[in-house]
Amino acid sequence: MQVKRCSIIEFRERFNTQEKCKKYLMEVKFGDKFSCTKCKSTKKIKGYNTYDIRCKDCGYNESPTSNTLFHSMKIKLTTAFEMMYRICVNKKGISTIELCREYDINPKTAYNFKRKVQESMESSQKNPLTGLVHVDEFMYGGKDAGCQGRSSKSDKLKICLAVEIIENKTKKKNKIGRAYALPIENFSQEELKKIFDKHISKDAKIVTDKWTGYNPLKSEYNIEQILSDGGKNFPELHILIMNIKNWIRGIHHKISKKHLQKYLNEFFFRFNRRSFIENMPLFTLKRMINSKPKPVTLSSCGFYG
Ligand SMILES: [Zn+2]
Repeated sequence: MQVKRCSIIEFRERFNTQEKCKKYLMEVKFGDKFSCTKCKSTKKIKGYNTYDIRCKDCGYNESPTSNTLFHSMKIKLTTAFEMMYRICVNKKGISTIELCREYDINPKTAYNFKRKVQESMESSQKNPLTGLVHVDEFMYGGKDAGCQGRSSKSDKLKICLAVEIIENKTKKKNKIGRAYALPIENFSQEELKKIFDKHISKDAKIVTDKWTGYNPLKSEYNIEQILSDGGKNFPELHILIMNIKNWIRGIHHKISKKHLQKYLNEFFFRFNRRSFIENMPLFTLKRMINSKPKPVTLSSCGFYG
């Protein structure tokens, strides 16, 4: 998707009225080619409200926010658009408390809106990691309760991480390419396999530590296992693990297991686009418009149903 760079000044000017936001929603949804969401008919008539479109064949009335993540919100579209901008462009995101304070909205509304933005940040899984990929797991928060190493009894959050390594043999310092992470229940082969299947190309050269859980995956993937040496052989992975932990601790303080994936989506959506962060607001806005709202989320959040 080709999108242009957009500063906060330009963004505010572009979306400073409800009408401009509604017009943009319709433009992204249909462009010049209307197709009814219900029956796919291309015949349209004027809808109930100014920017609505009604299907001539089945009568379905499509409002600008229908079938988008902006549907039935308690906040104005102008506010929602700018909040989305802030979540995208701030290098470390923005906490729910800060959103409440800056936009004068209640915590539930801020929290639920952030969930929506994070939903749109989910990886499409169309571009798996390639080349040299390092994989490791780590734990965050919770109590150890005397558990050691990779104990599945620990109530800490368990996360599996895969990172593209861009080798620089002359400077002996590698760079980090793209990366993804998934929450895991335990460190079994079945749980570890999830990140391979979702985010790593079958052609990638994968390196892990000597954990036995990776061994059975060698039949499907090109995996080399080397000694971790306390993380010394995987420095890039460990830098990223530290960054994730600091991000959670510093911005969000605490994350529940239920919402962990959404936060990881946000972290890696931003991380994987770090070299063109100014393009992200319009890119994310388009994703939010093209994503269908999930019924479960709508019924349980602070949006009008
Ligand atoms: Zn129709």
